[in-house]
Amino acid sequence: MAETIEKGSISINTENIFPIIKKFLYSDHEIFLRELVSNAVDATQKLRKLSSLGEFTGELGELRIEVSFDKKKKTITVSDRGIGMTGEEIKKYINQIAFSGATEFIEKFKDKADAKDIIGKFGLGFYSAFMVSDHVELVSRSYKASEKEAARWSCDGSTEFELEATAKTDRGTDVILHVNKDSEEFLDEWRLKGILEKYCKFLPVEIKFGTKEDREEDGVDKDGKPQYKTVTKDRIINNTQPLWTKAPAELKDEDYLKFYKELYPFAEDPLFWIHLNVDYPFNLTGVLYFPKVKNDFELNKNKIQLYSRQVFITDEVKDVVPDFLMLLHGVLDSPDIPLNVSRSYLQSDSNVKKISQHITKKVADKLAEMFKKDRADFEKKWDDISIFVKYGMISDEKFYDKAKEFALVKNTLKKYYTLDEYKEYTKDLQTDKEKQQIFLYATDTGKQHAFIETANQKAYDVIIMDGVLDSHFINTLEQKLDKVQFRRVDSDTIDKLIVKDEKVESVLSAADQEKLKAIFEKAINNSNMTLSIDSLAPDHLPVTITMSEWSRRMKDMAKTGGGGMYGFMGSMPDQYAVSVNGNHKIAQRVLQSPDEEQQVKLAKQTYDLALLSQGMLTGADLTNFIKRSVDLVS
Ligand code: ADP
Repeated sequence: MAETIEKGSISINTENIFPIIKKFLYSDHEIFLRELVSNAVDATQKLRKLSSLGEFTGELGELRIEVSFDKKKKTITVSDRGIGMTGEEIKKYINQIAFSGATEFIEKFKDKADAKDIIGKFGLGFYSAFMVSDHVELVSRSYKASEKEAARWSCDGSTEFELEATAKTDRGTDVILHVNKDSEEFLDEWRLKGILEKYCKFLPVEIKFGTKEDREEDGVDKDGKPQYKTVTKDRIINNTQPLWTKAPAELKDEDYLKFYKELYPFAEDPLFWIHLNVDYPFNLTGVLYFPKVKNDFELNKNKIQLYSRQVFITDEVKDVVPDFLMLLHGVLDSPDIPLNVSRSYLQSDSNVKKISQHITKKVADKLAEMFKKDRADFEKKWDDISIFVKYGMISDEKFYDKAKEFALVKNTLKKYYTLDEYKEYTKDLQTDKEKQQIFLYATDTGKQHAFIETANQKAYDVIIMDGVLDSHFINTLEQKLDKVQFRRVDSDTIDKLIVKDEKVESVLSAADQEKLKAIFEKAINNSNMTLSIDSLAPDHLPVTITMSEWSRRMKDMAKTGGGGMYGFMGSMPDQYAVSVNGNHKIAQRVLQSPDEEQQVKLAKQTYDLALLSQGMLTGADLTNFIKRSVDLVS
């Protein structure tokens, strides 16, 4: 290298790249630190590699990276003890490669949103330093060079650079940023520490940033009590061997739980986890945790962190992880995910698709294994994991095919069945005369209690479907299961929910039925209630108020945002069917009451009771009902 300062011009098509870099990357200036530290890690790893190959025989020493700043001088420095560069190498790697990358970058991507993903890909990494600097210096001594053969490069953000020989005691590279006026926020310990903790927390080479105070044991006093002293230690930002890089066989449950706490200090312990470790046909490691999902979905989303060779990239894993697993927590690390290209490309990338499919398969396998190994324990976890499983079954055919073996339904007696078991269990009693098997379900065991009881009296079983996804899950199951229909237990009288051939004889004559109908019509006096007199078992409820399965589903669709006809349905008043049991002894009593006033009063009372049992009696109606009841009792 020349003794004198070499001045040159960086060959580039674009007149001046830096304003463009600044403009494109405006919102994400902080990633300069990730880029520089990643370069320092690469340089360190390369030296380790050369050493292990026997090509570097000198002392490796401590291979730490140090990040420091000087508020007065307005500098931030990233130093490594990696392979370093000679002056020639600086010209080659920094001037040429980086800039050819920059040109390509500008030609291909003008979309600001993608810029932070792209910056690494085209060798712009080092140049991201100019987002926050007026002037950047790089002092480097190659592992091959002596103390006096180091090189200093500097550039003020124009296409001009300077390169000169210099002396440097230690091997490796210092990158010194002279921070610009707009970026002085970065000359702050907490800001820098925060950025390092976000992006560099699991890098494979130790990163030192400042010091910290620690308590250390310092012998014992005369009573044998341990004494402590405060010591100042280097503050190491990162855990160089995060759990996912280790072999699953080496790890215990405590290790996984500890790592979970490291990732999410405030979270409750997870339910279980899956350690991913794939070499072929793509490279993927990671640990996915099943959290206890709270009702607030949004709070749980975006918890999976994506890394590429231990460098944090993003926590938006939307396209890499199947939608139904977005609620999982944990980390994924893959050098094969093209992090540096645009989102639309990511979606169509075949590696990304394969990774997503692989994750789905692993999750299904893990659940199947847990189910087989310890069914009782699986049932205990079911209420917490059902949300994932159901979401997966609704949205992913392949997952459905695996999950149908272990997906469970829970009945009102809190017993769990697989779908096959449940079909078998209800087959004899709950098949109607059309050979359809009817699965009765409840969405609110409190409100629908009377209906559940009526069903149970007939020895019918009722399953609980009270989850947020259950109405969709029911649709999926009806499509998949042969000759199975779901009916909410309160959507009709029990004999009409499961229609059998047997018929209950009517106790009332046709004329009495007509009379009874007229009395109840007066008592109810509401056009949204359609009345019928039915011959049900004498111990069946005297009055049953239902909304048909069909109109309720339409309502639900309207609520969850179906437009058009659903929207129209949503704006209509609720329509109910009122079934009066002509065979109940109350029917006789109504008919036998002395005058019409008494008849209507008793009918109204019975009707109100039915409303009350479903929480539909409110306001003035409720007050009147109570008054009337008091009269009747006294
Ligand atoms: P990339 O890291 O994507 O290749 P950069 O612009 O960040 O692009 O760096 C360009 C090249 O400069 C690197 O490939 C490497 O050869 C060299 N380089 C950058 N930083 C260092 C460093 N700290 N030590 C040694 N070489 C470095």
